[in-house]
Amino acid sequence: MSDIYRERGMLHTIEELFCLIDTAIMEGYKFGSINEAIHCNKTVHLTFDDGYKEHLSVAKELKKRYDFSYNCITFAINIRNSFYEDKLCMDMLYQLIDKRRLNDMKKIFNIKSNNIELKELKKIFFSTTQYIEEINKYVDMQNYFLDKEEVIALSKLFSIASHCINHCYLTSLSDDDMYIELKVSKAYLSTLLNKEIEIICYPEGNHSNVINKVSKELGYKFGFSIFSKDREPKEFNINRSIPKCI
Ligand SMILES: [Zn+2]
Repeated sequence: MSDIYRERGMLHTIEELFCLIDTAIMEGYKFGSINEAIHCNKTVHLTFDDGYKEHLSVAKELKKRYDFSYNCITFAINIRNSFYEDKLCMDMLYQLIDKRRLNDMKKIFNIKSNNIELKELKKIFFSTTQYIEEINKYVDMQNYFLDKEEVIALSKLFSIASHCINHCYLTSLSDDDMYIELKVSKAYLSTLLNKEIEIICYPEGNHSNVINKVSKELGYKFGFSIFSKDREPKEFNINRSIPKCI
């Protein structure tokens, strides 16, 4: 994998993951459901975002090694990345950056400047669905994500959350588009897995009070964010953090 993932501190190898879990168990932590984790600060609920291909083998390993129950872990699945031909994900930017394809990026996003910060690039890319077709001509995203059969297999081991249709900032979309993202992704996964999807994992953790309200009205019971600074009601918004390896 590209060094960019490591630099962003959002990636653990399976050995690092085992080490983190073993250490937590040694320190008296338990692994449990979201509700158990809300009400007990010695209980951990594990989550994995984006439905990467390796997540199914990670899930199988965790089941085998720790015998975690179904409710201990949630995997968030993005509809486009798992089920559609054209993708929309951060990995596309990483791939272009890694191959130093600055000119391609400038062309795709119609950028004039030579100095593009990753943060800016992300903002342009994730604020709309308009670049999907174009960027897919430049990158190869085959075998990055779990396919339909693998998502079904994963859902038999652990709980599944919606990670929307498109991996866009929900706060950048129109109210109608935001509503569709929340509603259709829930319906798609619930039908596919024959089980009501009750968790929305906001892409890049991006959300607002309005988005929370719509999510609740649509029947979501929890909204996953990340490094959230807001003091939101703990009962709905689950503010996650990425554990550091020792
Ligand atoms: Zn994501």
